[in-house]
Amino acid sequence: MATLFKDVYILDGERERARRGHVVVSKGVIKQVAEGAVPSAADKVIEGRGVHALLPGFVNAHTHAAMTLLRGLGEEAPLMEWLQKKIWPVEAKLKPEHIYHGTAGGILEMLATGTTCFADMYFEMDGVAQAALDAGIRCALCRGITDGVAGPDGVRKVDRSLEDNLRLFDKWHGREGLLTVQLGPHAPYTVPFDDMKRIVATAKQRGIGIHFHFLETEWELGYMQDTLKMRPDEYLRETGILEVRGAVLAHGVWMNPDWADDSGSRAALDFSMATIVHCPKSNMKLGSGVTPLDRWMDKSVGLALGTDGASSNNRLDIWDEMRAAALVHKGATRNPTAVPALDVLRMATLEGARAFGFANKGLIREGWAADLVLVDLDKPHYIGFDEENLASFIVYAGSSADVRGTMVAGKWLYLDGDYKTVNRDEIMQKALESRKSITS
Ligand SMILES: [Zn+2]
Repeated sequence: MATLFKDVYILDGERERARRGHVVVSKGVIKQVAEGAVPSAADKVIEGRGVHALLPGFVNAHTHAAMTLLRGLGEEAPLMEWLQKKIWPVEAKLKPEHIYHGTAGGILEMLATGTTCFADMYFEMDGVAQAALDAGIRCALCRGITDGVAGPDGVRKVDRSLEDNLRLFDKWHGREGLLTVQLGPHAPYTVPFDDMKRIVATAKQRGIGIHFHFLETEWELGYMQDTLKMRPDEYLRETGILEVRGAVLAHGVWMNPDWADDSGSRAALDFSMATIVHCPKSNMKLGSGVTPLDRWMDKSVGLALGTDGASSNNRLDIWDEMRAAALVHKGATRNPTAVPALDVLRMATLEGARAFGFANKGLIREGWAADLVLVDLDKPHYIGFDEENLASFIVYAGSSADVRGTMVAGKWLYLDGDYKTVNRDEIMQKALESRKSITS
């Protein structure tokens, strides 16, 4: 079945200007992008009437979707205190079914806000994979690997969780073309150094990507220097983590772009196979700081956007993240040219998909996956948009409330307020019951 998007403004992160035209989608891919004459032979026509935009689907490149169940717990506390006192005790009560229902709830929010792919690190990840497949959304998943202390059975949690992560890879990687699996060593402060090296070696040997938290807080910078007795750039070099094809560093707030100085210095690190996932709102909310994103944009490194979990944002809305990313660096550096809107759009789409091994996703090009967002421009805040300025209207004036439809692999998952693949009310009910059972 072919779908024709007729008379829409076509925009992606690599177009200097939008094009007014038509897009035909068939068998999960973009079959034709045309201007002028309307292509024929479509089973279904979406009338754009010159007041809709078609964008690539957004990629939420770092989240913990099941934390939808923990939203609002322990607000306005520093990261470590928040984790230790509020989050970890409740997480300890989570059962596999809770993870499924919480993730399904998070997916509802992501679909309504234009996300077609999310990267998730948590535990009991079979529930995350199943919730993604049930909805039909793409997902890059990894098991959070933590803790070198042996449990009552004498087995260290880090060993057990690595084994579980490898099992997840064998079970889910590549499933239905929707899922990829990475290894998920949680962070340098939760994974012993030698174990981190071993996980990196496993990833390199088996050709698996790595997704981990890195230098989210200044506390972590101090931990590395005081406890591990090394500088963070030494840590990256010693673990070999940047040699992994598809290393994804979430946050990176306290990383220094000078480490990637391209002047040819032997001390410089090569970030060309890595992606830093910028999570501006979570970093602001937890008071973690501001990633020097504008300076990373000059380096050879992928840059993507993530919401982080719903309890530190508190939205799973990448559109909102685009706006925050485009604004915060201008303010922080007192430079209105920092982090332009079009670059932010590319980070929220193409670069997020690439980071997790999703090829041919994130641009509106013939032969690329039909992961698309239909945006209603027939609203007061779009008065005066045109081909030249659409990216800035989308990022600075628009919001996810303008999303009419979200399509993954040519299939509508969300359109005009309705979910096409899942039962919204049932998911909402189950998620609420799950929340009650872990918080009471
Ligand atoms: Zn995180």
